[in-house]
Amino acid sequence: MSTVFGQIIEGKLPCKKVFENERILAFHDIAPQAPVHVLIVPKKLIPNLAGASDEDEAVLGECLTVARKIAQQLGIQNSYRVITNSGKESGQLVYHIHFHLLGGRPLGALG
Ligand code: AMP
Repeated sequence: MSTVFGQIIEGKLPCKKVFENERILAFHDIAPQAPVHVLIVPKKLIPNLAGASDEDEAVLGECLTVARKIAQQLGIQNSYRVITNSGKESGQLVYHIHFHLLGGRPLGALG
């Protein structure tokens, strides 16, 4: 069954789009944890990092390149965090892999 991100990728749910190409869609998080909080999502349904395979290496790497470019575009290129949650105890809620790009405020140490 399609996740909420699958429905956004299919155009069935709206999003505030920041970037799109054939492989990746990036949009603002609906409940931002920082002044900049963008989600970078491969269009291919990969549930999380644990569920990825070696053939996903290129698109996962491209997600980081996209994150760098969006950080520049949104003016947070000097300091930002990119994270991905994998599994229930990491806090993962949506089982379609995504990278959070966070910035625009001091983020503190990871706890
Ligand atoms: P995670 O806990 O890593 O799975 O992150 C899921 C993220 O998706 C959370 O930060 C949510 O706020 C965000 N989210 C959930 N639904 C939507 C939506 N419709 N549009 C944008 N972001 C969403």
